[in-house]
Amino acid sequence: MRYDCVIIGGGIAGLQAAIQLGRYRHHVLVIDAGVGRSTLCRSYHNLLGYPDGVSGEHLRTVGRKQAEGLGVQFVLGKV
Ligand SMILES: Cc1cc2nc3c(=O)[nH]c(=O)nc-3n(C[C@H](O)[C@H](O)[C@H](O)COP(=O)(O)OP(=O)(O)OC[C@H]3O[C@@H](n4cnc5c(N)ncnc54)[C@H](O)[C@@H]3O)c2cc1C
Repeated sequence: MRYDCVIIGGGIAGLQAAIQLGRYRHHVLVIDAGVGRSTLCRSYHNLLGYPDGVSGEHLRTVGRKQAEGLGVQFVLGKV
């Protein structure tokens, strides 16, 4: 499989990039080691749409689901 873009890291930044690229129909692979700041943060504050805070795990889960819905593929691993 050839990809247009390989993103290293499936945290907030990597997921947002994957969603953006997937939305424009690029073939995208995310390689993620699985642990980062967004797995540590239990409650993000001052985030649009979440006035009471939201956990990093939740953001990662829904972000990955959104990206997968756009055809983005994920691999667990460290580059
Ligand atoms: C306790 C805590 C509380 C916080 N509270 C807030 C807050 O309230 N509001 C706010 O805006 N921000 C907060 N932050 C900061 C926020 O978590 C980070 O700004 C955000 O997670 C950065 O996103 P990121 O995708 O760059 O990094 P991360 O979320 O750290 O994700 C990076 C991902 O890349 C993966 N990775 C790294 N290197 C490799 C490699 N070589 N190969 C494969 N995968 C790799 C990691 O496993 C990880 O999954 C908090 C952080 C912490 C730790």
